[in-house]
Amino acid sequence: MSGLNDLYQEILLEHNSKPRNFRVVEPHTHYKEGFNPLCGDRILLYMDVKDDVVVDIGFQGSGCAISRASTSMLTETIMGQKIEDINQVFEEVHKMLTEPGAELDVNLLGDLEMLSGVTDFPVRIKCAMLSWHTLKSLIDNSSEPVSTE
Ligand code: ZN
Repeated sequence: MSGLNDLYQEILLEHNSKPRNFRVVEPHTHYKEGFNPLCGDRILLYMDVKDDVVVDIGFQGSGCAISRASTSMLTETIMGQKIEDINQVFEEVHKMLTEPGAELDVNLLGDLEMLSGVTDFPVRIKCAMLSWHTLKSLIDNSSEPVSTE
């Protein structure tokens, strides 16, 4: 990951070595698997939703540092959010990672802004987006498999 600035790198590595909410959520109302065949990242995302609020969220799986860190940050961000607000966060993260230079809502992104360093490494963008696509599929109640291909 040389080239990422030190702060980005430090935060990503910290999330990778100590991922937040790295556990199965039981019971859960939502469950989805996401796969990024380019890198081999595979994540299982669990969510427990009550009254349209995410009361618990966790993940399992294996993947590269970027995918783990991104998923860890996702769980911290989404925990306690209303389902109706998640789309907005997804769109903002998607814009940040796929439209370099776009104007971003930093209040909405919070710590997620740290993921923006990934845009310097186009091949890694799918690693960072994997958990977000999986989350989007979960809240859309899609039955389609999630793959970044
Ligand atoms: Zn990856």
